[in-house]
Amino acid sequence: MSEESLGKKLKEELFNEKKCGWEDVNSKEKEEIFKFSDEYIYFLNNAKTERECVSFAKKMLDENGFKNICDCQNLNKGDKVYYINRDKAIYMAIIGEENLENGLNIIGSHIDSPRLDLKPNPLYEDTGFAYLKTHYYGGIKKYQWTTIPLAIHGVIVKTNGEKITVNIGESNEDPIFTITDLLPHLAQEQMEKKLKEGIAGEDLNLLIGSIPYNDKEVSDKVKLNILAILNEKYGIKEADLLSSELEIVPSFKANSLGFDRSMVAGYGQDDRVCAYTSIRALLEVNNPKKTVVCIFSDKEEIGSMGNTGMESQVFDNFIAELLNKTGENKPNLLNKVFCNSRMLSSDVDAGFDPIYAHVSDRNNAGYLGHGIGFCKYTGARGKSGASDASAEFVAEVRKVVEDAKIPYQITELGKVDVGGGGTIAYILADKGVDVIDCGVPVLSMHAPYEVTSKFDVYCAYKTYRAFWNN
Ligand code: MN
Ligand code: MN
Repeated sequence: MSEESLGKKLKEELFNEKKCGWEDVNSKEKEEIFKFSDEYIYFLNNAKTERECVSFAKKMLDENGFKNICDCQNLNKGDKVYYINRDKAIYMAIIGEENLENGLNIIGSHIDSPRLDLKPNPLYEDTGFAYLKTHYYGGIKKYQWTTIPLAIHGVIVKTNGEKITVNIGESNEDPIFTITDLLPHLAQEQMEKKLKEGIAGEDLNLLIGSIPYNDKEVSDKVKLNILAILNEKYGIKEADLLSSELEIVPSFKANSLGFDRSMVAGYGQDDRVCAYTSIRALLEVNNPKKTVVCIFSDKEEIGSMGNTGMESQVFDNFIAELLNKTGENKPNLLNKVFCNSRMLSSDVDAGFDPIYAHVSDRNNAGYLGHGIGFCKYTGARGKSGASDASAEFVAEVRKVVEDAKIPYQITELGKVDVGGGGTIAYILADKGVDVIDCGVPVLSMHAPYEVTSKFDVYCAYKTYRAFWNN
């Protein structure tokens, strides 16, 4: 054997070679990946808010033998249950063969996405136009939200408890809404500003109408006309907007991206890509050894606070209910369960973007098409605020994906001093759970239109299935 081929062989054996996953995909697998992605795109187009995600998930669960835990007296091995937390978060479980005391296999994602919420007193009229004032939610680049078609999703709740569901700007018959921007001809001063100051938060006002109510006697005629329309359509008065949760989201549809259709472009893929792939995996788990838990949490984009966020005790209460209803509970058992548990904190990762290569370390970036990404730790600068998975747990997780022959990459969010981010990982780690961040690399994260690779979406689904069946 020549020295050259020996080197080649040694390199193949010793190097952790990074490659594009599509290279090894045969036509049958490609068909599966594309079919799965079509179903994912359907989900993206029908679940643009946390509430819509919860009702989409509930339907999937009800059709697949899951029961609301509140309707169950006792739980037995193999039982499938869920708990809906205020219509905005949902926790799901399949009772395993082993006692819960031995630990849970948890996969948790979040179903809230950056967007514009309406202010409590949103409606006003100025110079012949009616507007809705907004308050942005999560980390957005404000300029990206002007001059695009927008839709309004959410609920209005009257004092008598009646809840009106709003979803306007999606169907072909619906009107859309938009936020205007200055014409370049007159934007000299705006263009001199820093990008983050180009559009002020207080100027993100949604344009919603311009026809005055036909009565010379009254003022605020355009606003009145809008309220008359809202009253006719939804039966509401202006004061009912005080008790509403209305979210402004992009109205454009998710779709396949590229001549080769290799990618998905769509709003809210952070983190609905991990939510969808994990619930699809969940539906394929039967009689697991350890109890399987799936979390869709809310409020991740604003710090996971509040009673639907992951910081809330409602999740702990759900696990306590599993202990009660399986008849296993005893003092302090909940803490022990968490300390014996493992979790994939399934959230998206920053994909390497060649146009903005300077923010990434090429050796440690997540690449689209290279499979699911694991982040050993997140945080910023000197790992500030990081939940750092132990080497032992990373090895366990590597074994799961390597045994199942699923392409994966272990990544960092960006260059060390450039920035950082976090997920719900630290919250579960605080309870004693072994946690690693794990998700799909995304381009244009937090933009109204985010990009993922269909290959990675499918790898995420396979990884979650393998983790739970392990
Ligand atoms: Mn996220
Ligand atoms: Mn995010």
